[in-house]
Amino acid sequence: MSISLDTKTFNVEKIREEFPILHQKVNGRPLVYFDNAATTQKPKAVIDAISRYYSTINSNVHRGVHHLSQLATQAMEDSRLTLQKHINARESYEVIFTQGTTDSINLVAIALQRSGLIKSGDEIMVSALEHHSNIVPWQMLCEQSGARLVVIPMNEKGELSVEEYRALLNEKTRLVAFNHISNALGTVNPVKEMVKMAHNVDALTFIDGAQATPHMAVDVQHLDTDFYALSGHKVYGPTGIGVLYGKEDILEKLAPYRGGGEMIESVSFEKTTYAGLPHKFEAGTPHIEGAIVLGTAIDFLNEVGVENIAAHEADLVHYGIERLSSVEGMRFIGEARNRAGLISFVIEGVHPYDVGVLLDKMGIALRTGHHCAQPVMAYYKIPGTLRASFAMYNTRAEIDLMMEGLEKALQMLR
Ligand code: PMP
Repeated sequence: MSISLDTKTFNVEKIREEFPILHQKVNGRPLVYFDNAATTQKPKAVIDAISRYYSTINSNVHRGVHHLSQLATQAMEDSRLTLQKHINARESYEVIFTQGTTDSINLVAIALQRSGLIKSGDEIMVSALEHHSNIVPWQMLCEQSGARLVVIPMNEKGELSVEEYRALLNEKTRLVAFNHISNALGTVNPVKEMVKMAHNVDALTFIDGAQATPHMAVDVQHLDTDFYALSGHKVYGPTGIGVLYGKEDILEKLAPYRGGGEMIESVSFEKTTYAGLPHKFEAGTPHIEGAIVLGTAIDFLNEVGVENIAAHEADLVHYGIERLSSVEGMRFIGEARNRAGLISFVIEGVHPYDVGVLLDKMGIALRTGHHCAQPVMAYYKIPGTLRASFAMYNTRAEIDLMMEGLEKALQMLR
């Protein structure tokens, strides 16, 4: 990776001080939290902002003329602007607040169906590397519409085959959905190139950015993707909040996902008309404090610097691979040339779950299992992996602790 760490502005010990949860013992040992791909821990800025919201401006948004409602609405719309700037969306109303990546994907799948834009005989393409949330909603759309689900194959290294992808694209392809970074393997996909290829056959593109947004800068206009999704809790923000980015002209063509308050212009029993973007897709009282505090989390991320975070994590991945390579029976799962954020592995003769349980006894949190990517596990013919996934606050010393723990666990299990 060409990104370098600015040691003047990045100090991991200082960063760790910002995360209260890290300073505790688990099972009598200092916590080593390596399950960041599942969810990240929250800095004081985020925790305090939640408390501040409820202590000072809690109110419903977009309805009241009163003071608190105006403040809450302003704070939520300011956060939308922060998100717009962060992903470089052309317009703020192209940023829709959702519950997270899963919700964003369901929104588009259901809205496409409601709008009659997917028909029998059409093709929806997903990659072999996807999280279940970027498979199942498209599969449901296919079942309902009679469209066919087509899969872009992967290779042993955990990379997508761009040539095979090109060959699969055709005039029936309506939408291609793929992740920016795989949560199971850490593969960084060539998304800009993939978007361009999909557009050559007039297909829409949906990028699942759940794992990319914590680790790299994202520019949706540069990528030229039609849709992009992210989850707040993966970028040091609250759970239950996320974003769907969509290009204005396509969002305009989509029917609303959910009906209710806030998404209408006028309602009568004869005919209801809908609000404009983004409110058309934000029915009901939103996750107000989540939406506001997601902006705080993004500010925090940018204060530390996404490039600094990427460089720091690249060092951890490099060091982790180097240390883990010495373990007898080590098999890395996913060795893409371009990868970020995590290391997935299995060890010959031991079950990942047993290793995970023993590591937990030593205060070390790794993820074990299929990581909601069963097709990836099926490709490698394994039930699951052990996954160490990193964040800005992790250190080489923690990797050393993981290694000590792993050696002890293996002695017990072998
Ligand atoms: N896609 C990927 C690549 C993910 O890693 C995750 C979360 N593990 C999701 C989608 C789903 O995100 P959420 O649960 O926040 O909706």
